Amino acid sequence: MESNPVERFPERYSELYEPSMRRRLIEPVRDLAVSLMSPLASAAYHIRYARVNHVRFVYYHFVFGDQASRFAEHLRFYRDNYRVISHSEAISRLRDGRVDDRYLSISFDDGFKNNAEVAAPILEQFGMPAIFFVVANLMKFSPGEESELESFSRSRFGHRPLRNMDRDDLRRLLAGGHEIGSHTLSHARLSNTTLAVAEREIAQSRTVLEEMTGSPVKHFCFPYGLAADFPAHCRDMVERAGYQSCVSAIRGANQAGADVYHLRRDHIMANWPISQLKYFTRTNF
Ligand SMILES: [Zn+2]
Repeated sequence: MESNPVERFPERYSELYEPSMRRRLIEPVRDLAVSLMSPLASAAYHIRYARVNHVRFVYYHFVFGDQASRFAEHLRFYRDNYRVISHSEAISRLRDGRVDDRYLSISFDDGFKNNAEVAAPILEQFGMPAIFFVVANLMKFSPGEESELESFSRSRFGHRPLRNMDRDDLRRLLAGGHEIGSHTLSHARLSNTTLAVAEREIAQSRTVLEEMTGSPVKHFCFPYGLAADFPAHCRDMVERAGYQSCVSAIRGANQAGADVYHLRRDHIMANWPISQLKYFTRTNF
């Protein structure tokens, strides 16, 4: 019997990756170590950094249905420990030097459907705006193009395909008070492309997303996220293309005076316990 193609999409995090030694053994050990280190990190934070004003950017890729209640716990932690603000406000505070408290801004990378279906309603319950950095070409896959989506996902994201958001999802997120940012056209590693391709990935993704959403796209997020993935000439291209900011995946807090085209940001998984969240939001100043 032929299976419904939609049934092939993972519905929980445990189905997302092919089974591997790393996922089965190394990640649980790392998670446990981080949880054990967390009280130490919190103690050091309260002594050294609790009064250091900063902007902390946290980002997710997905929130699956079985992670919804944990994700709500994360938002409660942010609400109790930070002033949660929109990405645009975070950027304007950093640009103007108005970093007079502990601020936090939430983002999502790539553009998967569960962002709109699971994460956004919970964010809205908490009255928290987020920015969704979407891969412009990913937004164009329609039902029926599963095999193309599968090869796109495996080559770009290294995991099984997930249903993608589309134009209507982006418009609904905007109407709900969220922002849409660009994460390139095709999730290209900008350090590995010619100048012309990098320019197109950066500038054209903005135009495509603005046409799709009918709204200005002001912020950029470069794929893969490490310093080596984002050479200085690309940083300058982002600024020239008219974006107001660019975030990385290099962990840490941002203080007044940070380069708004190379901001630090912490990757968070929606299934993590609060102890892990504390560890990553209380280190790397
Ligand atoms: Zn990405």
